[in-house]
Amino acid sequence: MNFWEKFRPKYLFSCVETISLDWLREKKYEYIFLDVDNTITGWNEETVSSSVGEWLELLLKNEFKIILISNSGNRRLSKIATRFGIKYISWAAKPSVRPFEKALQLLGCGDKNKVLVIGDQLFTDIWGGNKMGLNTALVTPRYQKEFFYTKIIRKIERKVLKILQISKKDVSSNC
Ligand SMILES: [Mg+2]
Repeated sequence: MNFWEKFRPKYLFSCVETISLDWLREKKYEYIFLDVDNTITGWNEETVSSSVGEWLELLLKNEFKIILISNSGNRRLSKIATRFGIKYISWAAKPSVRPFEKALQLLGCGDKNKVLVIGDQLFTDIWGGNKMGLNTALVTPRYQKEFFYTKIIRKIERKVLKILQISKKDVSSNC
């Protein structure tokens, strides 16, 4: 396999809200492994917007099993997870496969084909999910504000996206 292929997301979305219930059902996904920072919240924020909240509620109401997996800390995560009554894994150390293994276990999922990993970073969410043999969806980061280290990573990320011939312009941006 080409060196760069491990970073290739299976799907591209402009934001989580554009991942529709019908599409998820059609693809037979039942488990959502969801990143937090810049996927469902702004960086270091502890609340989700009303549109993200509605999207989460809709999925939960339709019996999707959702778990938050974040490389950052406990308190913010537990606050969001508690609000929606879902599980979470903090300090996940993605792209390690460990948090993904743990998530499969916590949700009692035995079929990797039913899992969709959603995140905004190639080198953590997508690479980790791919390593674990899961389906991956890259979303455009919600906000510009980020950890300074992430800003550097974004530059490299853009280069890799170019190598993979992935253009964010291909993604509809009705977010
Ligand atoms: Mg993120």
